[in-house]
Amino acid sequence: MATKYVYFFGNGDADGDESMRPILGGKGANLAQMAKAPLSLPVPPGFTISIDVCQEYYKLGKKYPEGLDKEVASYLDRLEKTFGKKLGDENDPLLVSVRSGAAESMPGMMDTILNLGLNDKSVLGLANKTNNPRFAWDAYRRFIQMYGNVAMGVDHDKFEEIIAEVKSHRGIKEDTELTTEELQEIVTKYKAMYKKEKGEDFPQDPQVQMWGAIGAVFGSWMNERAIIYRKLNNIDENVIKGTAVTVMAMVFGNMGDTSGTGVAFSRDPSTGENHFMAEYLINAQGEDVVAGIRTPMDISALEKQQPEIFKEISTIRDRLEAHYHDMQDMEFTVQEGKLFMLQCRNGKRTGPAAVKMAVDMVAEKMITKEEALLRVKPDQLDQLLHPQFEAKALKSAKPLASALNASPGAGCGQIVFTADEAVEWDKAGKKVILVRKETSPDDIAGMYVAQGILTSTGGRTSHAAVVARGMGTPCVCGCSDVVFTSKDAVTIGGKKFKKGDFISIDGSTGNVYGEVIPVTPASVSGDLETFLGWADEVRAASVRTTPSGKTVKGFDVLANAEQNEAPQAFRFGAAGIGLCRTEHMFFEEPKLTSFQKMIISDTTEERKANLAAILPLQQKDFYGIIKTMEGRAVTIRLLDPPLNEFVQAETPDLAKALAKKLGVKVDFINKKYAELNEHNPMLGHRGCRLAITYPEIYEMQVEAIARATAKADKEGLKHDVRIMIPNVTTFAELKQIRAQAEAVIANVNKELGVSLKFQIGSMIEFPRAAATADKIAEYADFFSFGTNDLTQTTFGFSRDDYSKFIDSYLDQKVLLQDPFKTLDEDGVGVMIGLAEEKGRKVKTDLHLGICGEHGGDPASIALCYKLGLNYVSCSPFRVPAARLAGAQAVIKANK
Ligand code: PEP
Ligand code: MG
Repeated sequence: MATKYVYFFGNGDADGDESMRPILGGKGANLAQMAKAPLSLPVPPGFTISIDVCQEYYKLGKKYPEGLDKEVASYLDRLEKTFGKKLGDENDPLLVSVRSGAAESMPGMMDTILNLGLNDKSVLGLANKTNNPRFAWDAYRRFIQMYGNVAMGVDHDKFEEIIAEVKSHRGIKEDTELTTEELQEIVTKYKAMYKKEKGEDFPQDPQVQMWGAIGAVFGSWMNERAIIYRKLNNIDENVIKGTAVTVMAMVFGNMGDTSGTGVAFSRDPSTGENHFMAEYLINAQGEDVVAGIRTPMDISALEKQQPEIFKEISTIRDRLEAHYHDMQDMEFTVQEGKLFMLQCRNGKRTGPAAVKMAVDMVAEKMITKEEALLRVKPDQLDQLLHPQFEAKALKSAKPLASALNASPGAGCGQIVFTADEAVEWDKAGKKVILVRKETSPDDIAGMYVAQGILTSTGGRTSHAAVVARGMGTPCVCGCSDVVFTSKDAVTIGGKKFKKGDFISIDGSTGNVYGEVIPVTPASVSGDLETFLGWADEVRAASVRTTPSGKTVKGFDVLANAEQNEAPQAFRFGAAGIGLCRTEHMFFEEPKLTSFQKMIISDTTEERKANLAAILPLQQKDFYGIIKTMEGRAVTIRLLDPPLNEFVQAETPDLAKALAKKLGVKVDFINKKYAELNEHNPMLGHRGCRLAITYPEIYEMQVEAIARATAKADKEGLKHDVRIMIPNVTTFAELKQIRAQAEAVIANVNKELGVSLKFQIGSMIEFPRAAATADKIAEYADFFSFGTNDLTQTTFGFSRDDYSKFIDSYLDQKVLLQDPFKTLDEDGVGVMIGLAEEKGRKVKTDLHLGICGEHGGDPASIALCYKLGLNYVSCSPFRVPAARLAGAQAVIKANK
């Protein structure tokens, strides 16, 4: 049998159904489902040309597969018979709409053509039959405009100019005031203009019109806005393969006061409230609602005006919800008192609405908890947890620039260019946005007080991005439209700004605005608590077998947090801290000065003396975190960055200031600075390499940890402190450092009369560490995969510089994902799998987790689950999304 390309619906029956979305698109599949039993809703008849045809169309160089023309002709014939009218009939023409519809909804991105079938003759028939010439001529002029623009590419403005000219001639404002004669005049002018533009007459043959429209809809799959929409919404073209085309009998909402058109949501899509939300326009066509030409009225007006219709649509609302078990977005038309359903689909919704509906529908026994958990996209939770721009103000704002959406949330404030200014202005009660080329660890205080951070360079794992996410501060980075013109001035998208000028940034979209947009603070609703509680239950109950054959139970979410962020992590439901980066602790005075003195010391004794000054202060920091986390895991990573990050002496002024501060000569600072300088600091003298050359640094940190824990212990506080060694490349590093740490702990135990034990684990950040994980496991109580570095070193892409080329890679599909955002399963994933297998061969229950930025990314979380990790650890603000994404991974794996 030849391939079936066309599917009929109408008259209480349909060839397809809702399960055929991949073939019929969402619109075609739902029309079929609505038309047939058990719903049997009033749907105008029509047929859907399948998505397979779209694929063939592009494969064949924009040609249709053989036999399609005959199949369409036979279905058109069936449509005509069902509806009792013929396309192009001069007395009583059938008019059709030609609509797009992919398997995933892409609202407004592809083309639609209405009123098709009208020509110079059938318009007279329509006028006659409806006894409404004005309606017929209006439909004809709309059709010429839509077809001319959408199918034939005639500039929309050229049509609008003609209408405007006719209206101004008579001094009227609204299209609705145009008379039949004026509409006829417009049609004549449209056709003349069309002929001038296209060099041929406007097509009169309805068959030509129909195939032109079908071609336009298939063509719109590849129009720029559809391509961009798919990219922005991560719609994978290997899964969502094209659009279907639905040709459907037209019904008219603009046939007088008993006609109208409406758009309805079965629940409120912005709040999730369970009330019918619909808008209705009397005597209008659907495009008027969508185009916002007229303001629709609330559905309650329909209740008064046509109570029967209101009752009918309300019942349909309930039936569709009960059928689809989800909130429905519906389009309907009333033609002279008869209701027709034109479309239904699962409605798009905001994050807060998604959570509320999911929780409510479980209470209503409409869906299970597991179904509810799959209803909400993890990213949608962001909308509940970050400050937002006031929706009304945002509507009228225009972005000046757009760049990487590095840390979500909205921020508004006055521009400052240095971290010190940020701190000063904050103290003076001003709200600031820190605008920098890039940030460095000594900007931390300024970053902390800023409402938002905007950088002109750097990618998603740049310092600004990572730290901002950790703090929950909105951040837009890598914005090349920010150009520094002086110390105190920039241009953004070509517009000049100086220190103190207000800007607003949206870290969720990457947009930058040159104006004040008020911000509303984050709130956590009770529904979210309930919802995430279900996610926790699902993860806790999970059991799976890893690719290496081990059984793993549970899947936790921890946070990457330091002292300041620990309470936030706790509030967002982190099961503990998976990564406490200690480096920022050294940037606070007076620790910084002592640390800098330690760095420039010439002897071990000098170094030890300076470290001794830091010890009680670090101890205090650690004690604070242990106390805050109330017995949950606190994984403290020993010092990681290269020492040159702590010594700012790149200019003569900075060197002079540092020399003065540390009480040494400038020459000495310059000499030390030259010694410390590194070409590739990320691959240089950092992490545990520092402890091989200067063991006293880690010894001081371990002592501070042991003393802080001893203090907590003596006070009866619960504690679960773990020590983590970064940048391990060989087991021998860990063996040596572990022995030194255990010696320090033993001394503290002895001195304070306690018997503390600490788990000591290794980060796995390099392919060599993964390849030798069995040897490392002999000295490690746990592994934490530092996937920022592991991605960097597996790919050989510098995470600080990759933003220069990653867009080209993605655009040309050399890579399908940004590997610093979503874990690369084929390479980095294999490294993790290797380490899992080798590590657990030595220690069956070796605890494994991830603490790179990927720990907050849903797709990466699913991979971590599959690979048998016990936990993911991510920025506090991503914890709720990770709790959900982890549960979704469990549910999907169990399906
Ligand atoms: C990592 O490499 O993934 C990691 C967590 O360490 P950092 O980003 O601090 O190097
Ligand atoms: Mg690292």
